[in-house]
Amino acid sequence: MTTDQSTAPQSEALTFKAEVQQVLHILAHSLYTDREIFLRELISNASDALNRVQFEMLTNRDVRDPDAELAIWLEADPEQGTLTIRDTGIGMTREELIEHLGTIAQSSARAFVERTREAHKASASEIIGQFGVGFYSVFMVADKVTVISRSYRPEAEAARWESTGDERYTVGPAEREGRGTTIIVHLKDDAKEFAQSWRLEQIIKRHSDFVAFPIYMGERQLNQQKALWRRAPREVEAEQYHNLYRQLTLDSDEPLLHLHLSTDVPVDLHSILFVPAKRERGLIERRIEGKIKLYSRKVLILEDAKELLPSYFRFIEGVVDSEDLPLNVSRESVQSSPVMQRIRKTLTSRLHRELNELAERDAAKFAAFWKEFGVFIKEGVATDYESRSDLLKLLRFNTTRGGDDLVTLGQYKSRIVDGQQEIYYVMASSLEAARTSPHLDPFTARNIEVLLLHDLMDGFMLSGLREYEGLKLRNIDEADIELPGVVEATTPQISDEQFARLAERAAAVLGERIKQVRASRVLRDSPARLVSDEEAMGREMQRIQQLLGREAEQAPRILELNPGHGLVAALARRVEANAEDPVVTAALEQLYDNALLIEGLHQNPAAMVPRLLALIEAAARVE
Ligand code: ADP
Repeated sequence: MTTDQSTAPQSEALTFKAEVQQVLHILAHSLYTDREIFLRELISNASDALNRVQFEMLTNRDVRDPDAELAIWLEADPEQGTLTIRDTGIGMTREELIEHLGTIAQSSARAFVERTREAHKASASEIIGQFGVGFYSVFMVADKVTVISRSYRPEAEAARWESTGDERYTVGPAEREGRGTTIIVHLKDDAKEFAQSWRLEQIIKRHSDFVAFPIYMGERQLNQQKALWRRAPREVEAEQYHNLYRQLTLDSDEPLLHLHLSTDVPVDLHSILFVPAKRERGLIERRIEGKIKLYSRKVLILEDAKELLPSYFRFIEGVVDSEDLPLNVSRESVQSSPVMQRIRKTLTSRLHRELNELAERDAAKFAAFWKEFGVFIKEGVATDYESRSDLLKLLRFNTTRGGDDLVTLGQYKSRIVDGQQEIYYVMASSLEAARTSPHLDPFTARNIEVLLLHDLMDGFMLSGLREYEGLKLRNIDEADIELPGVVEATTPQISDEQFARLAERAAAVLGERIKQVRASRVLRDSPARLVSDEEAMGREMQRIQQLLGREAEQAPRILELNPGHGLVAALARRVEANAEDPVVTAALEQLYDNALLIEGLHQNPAAMVPRLLALIEAAARVE
């Protein structure tokens, strides 16, 4: 149905969108526990509306009732069984009433309906918190709701919205002088308790105590109003942090960590930051990025002040409040404000400290952090020069000596062997693959620890991690690494001539794909490997490109064969008997593919199957 401003009927009946009807039906008929949270939702809407008008008035005094006190009033009428919530917020026009209270985001409606279907007994607060059905939750307790609102725009008329929570609602003109919104809740018979003052006071204390605007009932203010982040950390209970987190994020998991910072000097800074439990949160949105709300002098200035933390901390959620910010902050001036810079510095270094302390205090929790957010820390190492040295302490690695435990660079350094001057790493497609890398042979033989890098982000991280406390990092697929300590060489099982003929054959079979074939001086248990004599950085960037699915040719590498390995010896003998032996051809191809496979660089592993079958057949044949 469309409405034309000039000829808008006095009052008209409209139909809720189908999704809204479904949600309303569930709210009215299925949720009986924790119904009190409807009030939290209405108060939170009122508080948002007050925030918005307050923000508008920073730059625009041409609003209705510029001097009205910014507050929320509750009125309970036990005789009539009604509860009224009034605010002096931004208000809504008739069109806005239709737009905001007649529809609901389809995705969240669908998720809501599904979730309530599967969780019959789920409590209302859990479900509503997650799905942000906000306003509609009033129909858990109401059989009729009337909304009367007047927008802050000076020319706007007052309007009225009314519904009994079935498929229809009406909108029409209304009498109301002042700016803001009044919601009259006609309580169901079984919900009359919400017309009792003591009960309302209890609910406000429980759920809305630190709403930033006063909530009055009669002459009395019910809420403490002091924002949680402006209180001393020792006065705040864990549950309150958790509630704040839930309000900010709609995430039902408890946060992994909170950090509460409250100082007046050198900057006035009050902040609560959260590390969520999971990288992806929210049932519907699957958000990865957090939001930092920025307040100044109780006014919400920015919904998401990205500039307050380095980009790699974008998973952090929270609130920052500072009286020192200039009030006329626009996006641009915020970024360049020296106060912002100072706040950013303080928050960043506190987060580093807190995470390091967590690592010392609670290894299991830190491991959980690392599992979810390690990739962001690695990104920080690559991208944020200023934070680098702090972030290096947070890095954790699988290594050849760590078993299942993750190892810090500090631990690695503490167990380097005599004469070792570098930190060694190998890159592979998975941890299992890394452990089987042929490059490890000479390191295992010398008991030198090697970092096992198997994450896509690792290659990128290395661009910012070329050195740690005087030790250079080195990829062990490099061609001629000098290692400390002497290890007995493996004895070749074939003569130099035999090897040369096999090498010649390998060069012919693999052609352009390799640079050269040579006998390995370091391989022990593995028959072959591919090494590079080019600069590691370039190769690692290529590798990232390739793993991201982009076209990127790996530069040809050197094929090393191990003359002390039984397989290599057997192949050499076969070449002697028959230079064109197809089994040798297939075996060489396969050795090459194996090397790519372990490093995660094979483009099409399935293509190996026919060759593997041929090799199996050759092996199975009874001569
Ligand atoms: P949400 O608050 O999550 O957006 P709600 O269903 O609670 O969802 O509210 C829908 C919209 O209705 C709000 O986004 C807001 O635009 C408007 N609204 C609700 N209550 C008020 C109010 N008291 N004053 C002004 N606008 C309001």
